[in-house]
Amino acid sequence: MNRDKMIDEIENFAGIWDIIIIGGGATGLGTAVEAASRGYKTLLLEQHDFSKGTSSRSTKLIHGGVRYLQQGNISLVLEALHERGMLIQNAPHLVHNQAFIVPTYDWWRGPFYGVGMKVYDLMAGKFGLGPSRILSREQTLAKIPTLEPKGLRGGVKYYDGQFDDSRLAINLAQTIVSLENTPINYMKVTGLLKSNKMVNGVQAKDMESGKEYELNGRVVINATGIFTDTILKMDNPSAKKIITMSQGVHLIFDQHFLPGDSAIMVPHTADDRVLFAVPWHKRVVVGTTETLVEKATLEPCAFEEEIDFILNHAAKYLTKDPSRSDILSVFAGIRPLVNPAGSKGTAAISRDHFLLVSEYGLITITGGKWTTYRKMAEDTIDQAALIAGLEERQSITKNMRIHGWLKNIDANEALHYYGSDIFAIKKLIESQPLLGDKLHDKLPFIKAEVIWSVREEMARTVEDVLARRTRALLLDAKASMEMAKETARLMAVELDYDRAWEKEQVLLYKKLAINYLPS
Ligand SMILES: Cc1cc2nc3c(=O)[nH]c(=O)nc-3n(C[C@H](O)[C@H](O)[C@H](O)COP(=O)(O)OP(=O)(O)OC[C@H]3O[C@@H](n4cnc5c(N)ncnc54)[C@H](O)[C@@H]3O)c2cc1C
Repeated sequence: MNRDKMIDEIENFAGIWDIIIIGGGATGLGTAVEAASRGYKTLLLEQHDFSKGTSSRSTKLIHGGVRYLQQGNISLVLEALHERGMLIQNAPHLVHNQAFIVPTYDWWRGPFYGVGMKVYDLMAGKFGLGPSRILSREQTLAKIPTLEPKGLRGGVKYYDGQFDDSRLAINLAQTIVSLENTPINYMKVTGLLKSNKMVNGVQAKDMESGKEYELNGRVVINATGIFTDTILKMDNPSAKKIITMSQGVHLIFDQHFLPGDSAIMVPHTADDRVLFAVPWHKRVVVGTTETLVEKATLEPCAFEEEIDFILNHAAKYLTKDPSRSDILSVFAGIRPLVNPAGSKGTAAISRDHFLLVSEYGLITITGGKWTTYRKMAEDTIDQAALIAGLEERQSITKNMRIHGWLKNIDANEALHYYGSDIFAIKKLIESQPLLGDKLHDKLPFIKAEVIWSVREEMARTVEDVLARRTRALLLDAKASMEMAKETARLMAVELDYDRAWEKEQVLLYKKLAINYLPS
């Protein structure tokens, strides 16, 4: 996957794209895979890097959503559980089965959650990942020795999926390329083209070269997450806002706070949220929060209250209270929630996806979650084919392997998250053994990954490599800053950039990464 080649493709393509998609997060990338796999000529434009927005900032769960079960949203849970099952089949190198334990401190909660989880098992049916079980106090503590023992009565164990969000995004982009279609990063849509009042293309600006393009398409799809309303306004300046934004924050801690393989799920926090503490890449991710925000931004920052909220709640459930100085990284993401008229507070707003066709033929797809991106894409392309007058073709993505597909890969093996690409990366190291060297002694990432992400994953900046190709920024923000210089040097050689570029990249990266450390 190579950006120069993508630019050549848009410059040399004389025809009309069947489908143009704006936005390279889970929704846009999934929609492009769906379109390309049905044989429609597809172009995807992302203003920054793939998954720079919300899609690299999730809790990293592929889940039915126990919370939605509590809310009685059965159809959403069913859909998500089925999608979870399919995704584990289609991207086994990135999505794996994760055991969760709900600790119970009241006598009645064990049986209550036990029944709830049995319903969850039943709903998953053949897509189930393993039967849930009620655990005794001893069994619970054996699974999670660092769980607060005071008042603990037992727990309920159940299973859900866990994944690496930005790695899946990159693999989706590679899948689009392998289907001979065109995803491109750092290409911002600045306007919509119209003919006879109907949308028939986009104006776009290459954010690297500054070059502007007019690109024609039979249909245009707005998959821009929290920026949805901006594109809707390009279509119709008097369009009503449909997005409400809710920020969620996660903290990353060392593994010793949660040793072992099991995650903790707390179904009810003080503000009626679900709190997770999940092992991830040999660290622990703890979150999340739900804070209404007004401004759509690609770099949201955690509020002090959000950090305090998570620290306080983590302290309630863990024997050793994590403090600010234990935080290795803090990251925030913003949910694009579709606001049905009259609802109050974000917890009540629908997590279902939302498909809208404007009077000028612009299709908007938003809401939903990572877990359901494929179903969102299927619904969107069914609609898009109709509007574009394309030949109707059935979806094949339910059973379609995603780039990197590799079964039975050991999650403890270095580089496992590359799936089948692991063999090519190992060859690269064989040819240049120094590329096997680590970039930092606190993190597992090696020099070969920098080279690989530039050559094969369209990484363009130090941030692309450290935040989304590897997850160094999220796993240890300070260590990642110390990796920036060598990363820039390796990239500059690959991309033929000079020393000034290297220096600027390091500065830019450090400026960004400092926001991932608590003040
Ligand atoms: C805190 C938090 C935790 C979550 N946890 C989970 C979870 O564990 N499991 C789960 O299934 N879901 C989870 N979600 C939900 C999931 O992350 C989102 O539903 C999903 O990532 C949304 O993807 P998207 O593609 O719609 O938006 P985004 O990922 O934001 O993508 C939109 C893209 O559009 C681009 N764009 C905007 N304007 C333009 C333009 N003019 N031109 C070109 N490109 C443009 C942006 O740069 C951006 O990359 C979580 C969400 C949050 C906030």
